[in-house]
Amino acid sequence: MAVVPVYNMVTLPDSSLYLQTDVYKAMTGRAPVENEKVTVIVARKEANRRELDSDSFFPIGVSGLIREVNPQGYLLIRLTQRVNLDEVYVYPDKTIELTVSRRPDREDMDPGEAAQRVTAVKEALLSFSRDFEWGEMLRGFIAAWETLGDVGAGMSPWMTDSNDERYALLAEDSQRARFDALEAMIYQNLELARVRVKAQSAQQQDHQKLYKEQALRKQIAYLQQELDEMHPEELTDLRKLELKIESCGMNETARKEAGKLMNRLKAEGENSHESGMLTDYLEFLTSLPWEREPAKTIALDEAERILDEDHFGLEKVKKRILEQIAVMQLRGRQSGSILLFVGAPGTGKTSIGQSIARALGREYVRVSLGGVRDEADIRGHRRTYIGAMPGRILDGIHKCGVSNPVMVLDEVDKLSASYNGDPASALLEVLDPEQNSSFTDHYLNVPYDLSDVLFICTANTTDTIPEPLLNRMETIRFQGYTPIEKQEIALRHLLPKAMEAAGLGEGALQLSGETVAHVIDEYTREAGVRGLKKRIDTLCRSAAVALVRGAETPITVTPAQLREYLDMSPIHQKSVRDSAEPGVVTGLAWTQVGGDVLYIETKATRGSGKLTITGQLGDVMKESAQIAVSLVKSMYPEQAEALEKEDLHIHVPDGATPKDGPSAGITLTTALASLVSGIPVPPAVAMTGEVSLQGSINPIGGLPEKLMAAQRSGVKKVFIPADNVDDLRDVAKEVRDKLTIVPVQTVGEVLSDLSLRGGA
Ligand code: ADP
Repeated sequence: MAVVPVYNMVTLPDSSLYLQTDVYKAMTGRAPVENEKVTVIVARKEANRRELDSDSFFPIGVSGLIREVNPQGYLLIRLTQRVNLDEVYVYPDKTIELTVSRRPDREDMDPGEAAQRVTAVKEALLSFSRDFEWGEMLRGFIAAWETLGDVGAGMSPWMTDSNDERYALLAEDSQRARFDALEAMIYQNLELARVRVKAQSAQQQDHQKLYKEQALRKQIAYLQQELDEMHPEELTDLRKLELKIESCGMNETARKEAGKLMNRLKAEGENSHESGMLTDYLEFLTSLPWEREPAKTIALDEAERILDEDHFGLEKVKKRILEQIAVMQLRGRQSGSILLFVGAPGTGKTSIGQSIARALGREYVRVSLGGVRDEADIRGHRRTYIGAMPGRILDGIHKCGVSNPVMVLDEVDKLSASYNGDPASALLEVLDPEQNSSFTDHYLNVPYDLSDVLFICTANTTDTIPEPLLNRMETIRFQGYTPIEKQEIALRHLLPKAMEAAGLGEGALQLSGETVAHVIDEYTREAGVRGLKKRIDTLCRSAAVALVRGAETPITVTPAQLREYLDMSPIHQKSVRDSAEPGVVTGLAWTQVGGDVLYIETKATRGSGKLTITGQLGDVMKESAQIAVSLVKSMYPEQAEALEKEDLHIHVPDGATPKDGPSAGITLTTALASLVSGIPVPPAVAMTGEVSLQGSINPIGGLPEKLMAAQRSGVKKVFIPADNVDDLRDVAKEVRDKLTIVPVQTVGEVLSDLSLRGGA
């Protein structure tokens, strides 16, 4: 008797098993002989004959006869009877010997019912087979199957059930239970096969559609290109736009949006009322710089040279800018912290931005935010608005044509909120490195990456900048220039540029340092150099006229000729008063255009202890005035009674400029002390400092600007809060040298120094 070890097959009594003759030979070690008895035994796990031993098999097998050995290399075994493997020997040459005994079935299946159910299974298989091209062959097989065991054995190669599950069928004694289990197995596998076939064919259809579409598109593009090449002059505007959409390198989202609007434009025709808007939009979208500029390597020395070449002085600012460049370089980024340049007009804030762009070898673009009240100015109008436009940020990007410009946002302190939304919060989004890589302008309606833009903001003051915005930025102060610095700037930078603009050749106009100094002193009054630039421009134009009239070069201008050349009278310089009278004291103020001197005047009139304050003072300054009154009353107790019968009037002239802030406290107090004591304070003595009700002096801001203004106006001595002494480092030496600066901690120190009696 031959013993055939098998693995992963459905082997059941009443079924046919087909085997390849070669496989049979390999597994049994002998050639098949027709009508020979065989026993099929099931290995527990996959193994070749050489690895098998007596423990390799499940304890039940099935025996039958070899019915047919066919010359094409197949043999057919008809299995009939389950057997228990009582003993299994595997000899060293791997021939297997068995002792077996019959294992009877429990005959609990009605043959009639079995036949019906087999027919139903075969029907299901036949109907499934119609879905295939190769179903024909399958149908042949199905027709030949007689028993459910045949079906199971025949489908065995396609079943997904495990070896153990298959063996479990054979181990089942009850015929009904075995039938049920096998039937369930067949239906399940049929269902699985059905799903798989469906998915495959669906996928195939999808692929086919896609391939077809792609092929068609390629063909259209090719034909269109041929046509375009034949008639380049006949490219329609639409077609031009289409070509631009393809070539401008925009991201996927933008391309989709463009495609959508292009289709709308085509559908509605060029004369529809929407076509203008759609074309404008597509023009804008496609002309934005979509491709990212690569980062350049910057030679720090060269950058420093360029910064020095464009601007005189500003050492601290330049140092900070070089730091920024170095950090950007090391981090491999095109942007970094956002710098906020704060200072008076004409101190070089905007122009140094331009210089930074030059040093970095990048484009420069300036966006003015002065007077912006509407969020849409920053973020654009929605496209559905009539006359919708992109916001100023994207407009700036559009103008400069690159994705990584140096963008100067001018006058961020002049933004204001209105019912149309808060532009500052929109700006916050622009400047936030976490968000700005996908900045969405309402007009554009698709995200644009601003993360490579180097933003620089400028402002005259930080007071009006909303806190969250201010926190995003790093403030750098531009303090204004001393007369000597201005003179250098004029001779080195302003004059050469102005001469070139006026068409004067080199050396055609010669201005001496003395003349320039006169222009600065008598014809300008400012912290920056804007006015000075205008005067120098005027001088150059006057020289141009003289030259054309035939004057000889070089033309020189003496201080005395300035009036005629500039065609203006000297500006009335606010210099300190000559005469001193009790109750009037010189104060120092900080304004957006730099520092200024102001006088605080006080007067007492017969009355009833009322206090009048005039001169457009803000609330904080009014409070300072009240503190001053209380302080003086407590410091001059002997006058207190007299003060009850008088009204006090405090006035700060130059009423057109609104003034506020606590820094006039000491000046107010001193003016009242002088009034009360009847002792005048010399006008060339000025002071600044906040005063507490206890009479101590607290620090103030803007000291450098104030001291510069003091020195410009001829003040000789200045009291400053002792806590501000550190700020003196920011004050030019030539200014410090010309002033006697007295740091003080209490009001008493000031009053004693000025010999105004009292002293708390
Ligand atoms: P701001 O932006 O502070 O109002 P600008 O940058 O517009 O000032 O400067 C006004 C003019 O003064 C510009 O022509 C600029 O070149 C010139 N300028 C300002 N500061 C300097 C400086 N330190 N060196 C050379 N030119 C300067």
